[in-house]
Amino acid sequence: MKKIIVFASTLLMALSCANHNPFLQQWDTPYGTAPFSKIKTSDYLPAIKEGIRQQRAEIDAIIANPDAPTFENTILAYELSGELLAKVTGVFYNLSETDGTPEILALLDEVTPMLSEAEDEIFLNPDLFVRVKAVYDASDSLDREQQMVTKKLYDRFVRNGIALDEAGRSRFKEINSRLAVLSQEFGKHLLAENGAFKEAIGITVPAYPDFMSSCEDRDLREKAFKAYSSRGNHGDENDNNAIALEIMQLRTKQANLLGFATSADYILDNKMAGNAGTVDEFLAKIMAASMKKAKEEIADMQVVMDEDIAAGKLPAGTKIAPWDWWYYAEKVRARKYDLDESLTKPYFQVDSVRKGVFTAAHLLYGINFEEATDVEVYNPVVKAYKLTDADGSLIGIFYCDYFSRDIKRGGAWMNNFREQYVNAAGEDVRPIIVNSCNFPPATEDTPSLLTVDEVQTAFHEFGHALHGFLTKCHYRDVSGTNVTRDFVEMFSQINEHWAFEPEVLKLYAHHYQTGEVIPQDLVDKINNALKFNQGFTTGELCAASILDMAWHELDTEDLAPIKTADDVRAFEEKVCKEMGLIDEIIPRYRTTYFNHIFNSGYSAGYYGYLWSEVLDRDAFAEFEKAGVLNQDLARKFRETFLEKGGSEEPMTLFRSFKGADPDPSALLRGRGLE
Ligand SMILES: [Zn+2]
Repeated sequence: MKKIIVFASTLLMALSCANHNPFLQQWDTPYGTAPFSKIKTSDYLPAIKEGIRQQRAEIDAIIANPDAPTFENTILAYELSGELLAKVTGVFYNLSETDGTPEILALLDEVTPMLSEAEDEIFLNPDLFVRVKAVYDASDSLDREQQMVTKKLYDRFVRNGIALDEAGRSRFKEINSRLAVLSQEFGKHLLAENGAFKEAIGITVPAYPDFMSSCEDRDLREKAFKAYSSRGNHGDENDNNAIALEIMQLRTKQANLLGFATSADYILDNKMAGNAGTVDEFLAKIMAASMKKAKEEIADMQVVMDEDIAAGKLPAGTKIAPWDWWYYAEKVRARKYDLDESLTKPYFQVDSVRKGVFTAAHLLYGINFEEATDVEVYNPVVKAYKLTDADGSLIGIFYCDYFSRDIKRGGAWMNNFREQYVNAAGEDVRPIIVNSCNFPPATEDTPSLLTVDEVQTAFHEFGHALHGFLTKCHYRDVSGTNVTRDFVEMFSQINEHWAFEPEVLKLYAHHYQTGEVIPQDLVDKINNALKFNQGFTTGELCAASILDMAWHELDTEDLAPIKTADDVRAFEEKVCKEMGLIDEIIPRYRTTYFNHIFNSGYSAGYYGYLWSEVLDRDAFAEFEKAGVLNQDLARKFRETFLEKGGSEEPMTLFRSFKGADPDPSALLRGRGLE
């Protein structure tokens, strides 16, 4: 009886909120897009709380179901739960990144722990796990997508430590909270060290490569290099050696609890690469090829340096040192490739580039784009588009948010406002996707003109968008870009290849004043410049990937003798020596400032950038053979990969597309290393 009263009063509350909270109402908008103008910052918190409450009730109902667990009454019921929460967080998370007002950011701090607690409540719930496990254990009779989504859900529980005994579970949780503190500390120290770097050298950390390319003063370059590469490594209160070590000790303990010898084994168990040995072998191959190329690059640079010696600018016998690399590479680049971006930029006016991105997708996949003026946008600079398939059916809605602004975070990304899935009524809910970049807005006298790098970014992010749009799955957790970390960048990176293909360029790269198509010699220069300095670029990236793997491949016994900051330094040095890294290059990130692996989601995963590149280059090689705009091959790519999301193992998809395993030499060829 009491229960009914509680229910009635919550319902009343929900109804009264619904009068003014747009999240608690049905959206009567075109394609179910968010009615941004009606949403107030104060609407988020009550809607998130109500969303958590609704999902909790839905989970309780799954557990209380007296029927034996089935895919429908357990996995599907879970997949369909939390609809309101997804609706609110879809808007909230996106706006916190693109239009993060102080109020929104304060709210983000408030709701983040609330949401992670709600998630823990689900994935540490033993009663729910019992049902999920029952379906998982009997999943032979399910179809492939159902098996994949069931496995993903089951893994999530197991990887959270749910299958452990009471003591194990509490130790696991304890380690998790200590790890959260340590990661945060690592990040804080690094922030302070970045500040100290700026203080000492007078430039910010992101400005470092540009500074090193142009700084004539060799002593100052040396000073900058030493300050940059010793961040978090001064034995003071911001030293990160002990933190990195403790993080590794705890991660290894956690892996041990789950039955793995090392954290690399644990992390890679559900990735495309599958195991550490595969990754090691892959990286060793790339390392060897990039060091061979790097030695040639040194010889090229030494020629320029010798001229400086002859001109009396440097003492006789001076050799290329790590702090000389950017500076002399830039000199070689200017001589060999002579790419002047002030000449290419007028061909890459932002609207032309957007047209190029859309045209490539139209020619390959038959997608039609139409500006959707009836769809509300969250910022006046954003444009909305309706995407339809060749047969006229709706593919989804695309928000194109290209320009930087003060309250937008840096970088570029793709995200969903709404994921694709089949809802309870059996309707295919189409995705709503955004591409957000930080391109320069137009000024009064110049339009927004993009660099080669920015053009690549536009194609990259739209590659992710295509993965999100063309998906034909049933369940949110495996649709679109919901695939493993070492697979997801394949789709963005492959789309970059079309940016500078002459056949595509002639359709979009038109001079903004004269309308003239970009001349072939500029196209050649762009394509050559993309292969420049790849021994160094690939080498430092690969070295960081190997360092990441080396840390995560240590078992408890290996870790035992590493006790002090000096031991941590010695370990890194030994790893660099063993991987064959030449003295003139250091890993892109060293242990004490490797934020990706100690304070972000890339632990034993930094290799993913190179791994995805093998996949995209290898797949693109098929287009090069068949013709880059070959529609039959594009259809095969769409049906094999883009429609499938995470509903099949990535390696199975790759093999069915290529008829063979991914071949690392595709990357070496693509980067001019072979
Ligand atoms: Zn990406």
